[in-house]
Amino acid sequence: MNTMEKIRMKTPLVEMDGDEMTRILWRQIKDELLLPFVELKTEYYDLGLPERERTKDQVTTDAANAIKKYGVGVKCATITPNAQRVEEYHLSEMWKSPNGTIRAILDGTVFRAPILIDAVKPSVRTWKRPITIARHAYGDVYKNAEIRVPGPGRAELLFTGEDGREERRTVYDFEGPGVLQGIYNKDSSIRSFAHTCFRYALETKQDLWFATKDTISKTYDHTFKDLFTEIYEADYRAAFEAAGIRYFYTLIDDAVARVIRSEGGFIWACKNYDGDVMSDMVSTAFGSLAMMTSVLVSPDGCWEYEAAHGTVTRHYYRYLNGEETSTNPIATIYAWSGALRKRGELDALPDLVSFADALEAACLKTLNDGVMTKDLVSLAEGVEVRAVNTAAFLAAIRERLDAALR
Ligand code: NAP
Ligand code: MG
Repeated sequence: MNTMEKIRMKTPLVEMDGDEMTRILWRQIKDELLLPFVELKTEYYDLGLPERERTKDQVTTDAANAIKKYGVGVKCATITPNAQRVEEYHLSEMWKSPNGTIRAILDGTVFRAPILIDAVKPSVRTWKRPITIARHAYGDVYKNAEIRVPGPGRAELLFTGEDGREERRTVYDFEGPGVLQGIYNKDSSIRSFAHTCFRYALETKQDLWFATKDTISKTYDHTFKDLFTEIYEADYRAAFEAAGIRYFYTLIDDAVARVIRSEGGFIWACKNYDGDVMSDMVSTAFGSLAMMTSVLVSPDGCWEYEAAHGTVTRHYYRYLNGEETSTNPIATIYAWSGALRKRGELDALPDLVSFADALEAACLKTLNDGVMTKDLVSLAEGVEVRAVNTAAFLAAIRERLDAALR
């Protein structure tokens, strides 16, 4: 029995529960690793699909506004409904992705970083430290307008100003069928993306890389480059130099080559699509999506922590069938430790910060001792591995956490 006094909190953490296997993990993590040690103070929002349906998704908006109010949130993975989910959950509507809704309200940038352990070597031999991807999560191809061009004709780009002034460009004179797409972004969003990246680099004391295709896209991508440069020179150069870190811009193809040859240990800021694709590549090369942390940072300083993976549906159905599951809880535990640490920093609660450190250290010790969930077993080398189910894995972390905090 643990008789030590529990760590107290000041400001509540915005707790967002989720779906399927990760909802099960959520409960287990709280019971086994958090509640025995921390007088957990949270404002609870159930973002599980049934509650989103019951509240017509109002609960998601309420949760996002609560993050704006309190500053720090922790989120469980949630189902983004598709047609099949609409049937499965008898939904009245195909509710939007909660992450998309929260991002739109917080106007944030998503930072994803792998959790490295000795036993799992990155596929890229030179990588020694984590590479954090900062993805601009607004606009571009994700907010496009597309036309399937049926046959010959002229495609034009037309902007009509509020004053009625028109600007027109011919995109292409089609001689036959083809495809056409219009995309956009906003200076305000690019600027907040830049500010968030520069601040995150300072906060984590890592170099910041940014890359676009400005040689080809001389207006669109070049604007990204120019705004980053302008903001860096005006607001961050001095602080970067004082911190001994640097900002570095290059072409996206050059960046890809350099990233592969690098040792890691920097933040790679990416436009929306590049970030989508590159974060999957980087996380896979580092080992596993189950070992990837994800935090949404808003320009006004709000922090939302989550795991990068989804609700692990396949494992959930096995769980419902009464089968044993070996789902990796590490990314979800790190979402909690990240949120608690940030809450501790903001509220000047050193005990809470130390607890977050101890929790992460216990996770790493467990893994480095070779106790692992099944997803990692096939990746591990140089250590005698014991594959365990989720409950045994959490118990092994608890044992080490108890020992560290005693
Ligand atoms: P997923 O939940 O990430 O799982 C895909 C596969 O990756 C799993 O079947 C499993 O492989 C492996 N995996 C992922 N996380 C794991 C973990 N913690 N431990 C062990 N293995 C893990 O992606 P999905 O199946 O495509 O999506 C499921 C649901 O999640 C969807 O409804 C989607 O909308 C939602 N989703 C939510 C978020 C979010 O909330 N941030 C993100 C992505 C997806 P094996 O089955 O081979 O073991
Ligand atoms: Mg993707």
